[in-house]
Amino acid sequence: MKLAELQELESRWVMRTYARAPVEFVRGEGARLWDSEGKQYLDFLAGISVCSVGHCHPAVVEAVREQVGTLTHTSNLYLTQGGVQLAQRLSESSLGGRAFLCNSGTEANECAIKLIRKHAHERGIDEPEIVALEGAFHGRTMGSLSATPGLATNANFSPYLPGFRSVPRDDPDALHAAVGGSTAAVMLEPIQGETGVNVVPDEMIVAAREASEVSGALLLFDEIQTGMGRTGSLWAYEQLPARPDVMTTAKALGGGLPVGACVTSEATMGVLEPGDHGSTFAGGPLVATASLAAFEVIDDAELLRNVRGLGGRLCEGLESISAIAEVRGRGLMVGARLAGGDAKEAASRALAEGLIMNPIGADVLRFLPPLVIGENEVDEALEILRLVLD
Ligand SMILES: *Cc1c(COP(=O)(O)O)cnc(C)c1O
Repeated sequence: MKLAELQELESRWVMRTYARAPVEFVRGEGARLWDSEGKQYLDFLAGISVCSVGHCHPAVVEAVREQVGTLTHTSNLYLTQGGVQLAQRLSESSLGGRAFLCNSGTEANECAIKLIRKHAHERGIDEPEIVALEGAFHGRTMGSLSATPGLATNANFSPYLPGFRSVPRDDPDALHAAVGGSTAAVMLEPIQGETGVNVVPDEMIVAAREASEVSGALLLFDEIQTGMGRTGSLWAYEQLPARPDVMTTAKALGGGLPVGACVTSEATMGVLEPGDHGSTFAGGPLVATASLAAFEVIDDAELLRNVRGLGGRLCEGLESISAIAEVRGRGLMVGARLAGGDAKEAASRALAEGLIMNPIGADVLRFLPPLVIGENEVDEALEILRLVLD
């Protein structure tokens, strides 16, 4: 089928919620994608940090192939091994409590919001409030959306959930002032991915931890994008001055398949009880086996060291491009602000030259390559960018 035909079918049959680039991908391997016309691309977006092990990693493919012919789904009315092992792997590598598995990032946050609210009610708070940061993105379902200040202003979807407020992401005093007796939790992404790779300053992380401690509130880190090795440690908080009580993750967790998780500390692992929450698909054998295979690849000291090193190389290269005014991020989660000019146009020119990344807002380019790339791929991406930007 020709690209034009596919576009015509899409415009008739698919709800028009996405503005897509004019390309149809048909195959992927490692950091490479191929379109329907046989053209090859270097993928520095990795499905928005989902394909962190690269496209069609042999270990994930093998695990899924084996599992799909053995058992794919039984519902959560019964036990299967993979989901339990995945929960153990998640908890042992992070907060040490328990995990609830789900199918996406926004669902992971919905679970966290319910846990947080119940925890607050148990402390006698009738109208618990969650304090989020401006510039946050927590997802598209009504709870996560209500925690996303930049989107919860769209009147078309009102009313939003009550019980959310936000403060600037770089104002520790405002955060301290916002947290009080009715605060259930402070909720933040260590690095705000969807609004332009904005690193939340360490002072804010410390303020969030202190304010939570003083008020009895919980601290929730949304590591949906920053987790699973993206910033050069398995979880981004490992490089921060504080650890959360609850963490959500998704995106790269499934090795390309849809998996999310809400992970707790030991102190909060008993809050949700039978009947409090659930999901038909969640934690099934197929996605769990893919996720465990992805863990094997990513939870590796050498790979994580490489992520930090390659991140440095990418940032240095970007800084040497005169059209780029500012480079920010950590590990292989990198944003480049253009000195002038149009990020959207730059991204579509890069796409034409065979490099995939994505524009955010008017002037930021975001890079989220697979974590399995090498120096050659970084240099190749930089070469295309120089061609496109200079
Ligand atoms: C992508 C993302 C989400 C939402 O995840 P979905 O799987 O699209 O629901 C939430 N929070 C952060 C930080 C994200 O990057």
